[in-house]
Amino acid sequence: MAVNLPIYLDNNATTRTDPRVLEAMLPYFCEDFGNAASRNHPFGWRAEAAVEKAREQVALALGASAKEIVFTSGATESDNLAIKGAAEMYKDKGRHIITCATEHKAVLDTCKYLEETGYTMTYLKPDRFGVVSAEQVAQAITDQTILITLMAANNEIGTIHPIAQIGQLAKARGIIFHTDATQAFCKIPLNVEQMGIDLLSLSGHKIYGPKGVGALYVRRRSPRVRLAIQMHGGGHENGRRSGTLNVPGVVGLGAAAQIGSAEMDAEGRRLGQLRDYLQRALEKELDHVVVNGHPTSRLPNTLNISFAYVEGESLMMKVKDIAVSSGSACTSASLEPSFVLKAIGVSDELAHGSIRFSLGRFTTQEEIDYAAEHVIRAVRQLRELSPLYETAREQGGNGEANLPPLPCKGRSEETERAKGF
Ligand SMILES: *Cc1c(COP(=O)(O)O)cnc(C)c1O
Repeated sequence: MAVNLPIYLDNNATTRTDPRVLEAMLPYFCEDFGNAASRNHPFGWRAEAAVEKAREQVALALGASAKEIVFTSGATESDNLAIKGAAEMYKDKGRHIITCATEHKAVLDTCKYLEETGYTMTYLKPDRFGVVSAEQVAQAITDQTILITLMAANNEIGTIHPIAQIGQLAKARGIIFHTDATQAFCKIPLNVEQMGIDLLSLSGHKIYGPKGVGALYVRRRSPRVRLAIQMHGGGHENGRRSGTLNVPGVVGLGAAAQIGSAEMDAEGRRLGQLRDYLQRALEKELDHVVVNGHPTSRLPNTLNISFAYVEGESLMMKVKDIAVSSGSACTSASLEPSFVLKAIGVSDELAHGSIRFSLGRFTTQEEIDYAAEHVIRAVRQLRELSPLYETAREQGGNGEANLPPLPCKGRSEETERAKGF
């Protein structure tokens, strides 16, 4: 079977909307276009009924009740509402918050902002696999701690945190526990009751739903979590998040959550096998490769791998018809290695040589065969140009320690354009 190019292996950045999700959304643009807040006519009632069905669907996928779901514009907003909302609401109890160094920027930047306004943060350092343990969290708790915010699974390396243990700990100490579950939702089982989660962020476009819609789970009993309002306005979402609801988006999120949770086990198994197959092929055909993230406690669709003696950006340019992400972000002045890889102790050199493959619902075996073959060929070609690789091979050692830093200059204009600069 021929493959269609380009191949999409960047599903942790966003996913294609599932056609079944799109189909569920379509009636809510032109036919049932009502405002879900219009209480006195059928247009509004129909929109409201669709929103409430979606609320049930999202709640069911989390083991929550519908009243605990607040719709937002995406996980960035959910993270902001959870963290700022809890911090402001409970500031009289204390002003200390625990998080970790490998969180998404939506969490980290929100925490930085709170630091500027008088809160104290602890940024826990994960181990070399990217895991923060419940013991680490326990040790960081003080009598001022009001909130623990730790992602369920990391977007760059796929490492899964011991969320249930941390939730139990938070519960025992009476501290609110928020988790950014954007990557974990519909990929691994999540249950807010069993895991002691008080606040949980998720997003439509990471689970084959539309962009620009997400949700925040807010616990209603034992304990009832209250949040300071972040978006003032018409009092939508029970006063928790004002603004006219994106009805088609919300319907899409509900459908995506329903399909995603129903198919999670089978999809996880299939993608895990494909991912492992890709990993084995790369490890078998290439030397000096290192997998980043936890070997087993990892999202089944994610493979973050470093090719020593190769610049990830150059590799991406060589395999332009395979859409992946690299472990570098070139700011105007310098090529910055990923802060996540840095935080788990990956050297700058190996971080620059890293590529994230994230597989998804529409990934096929043929695409993985194509990707493996072309990436292997490209890495070999790039290494042929590397005197350092020659030396390392002759010496037979690992040779990583001698790698020079990679400067940003000399990168082709094309590279800059491809990154959207
Ligand atoms: C994508 C992502 C976000 C941001 O979600 P948006 O809906 O795009 O705002 C937050 N956290 C994690 C872990 C993500 O992967």
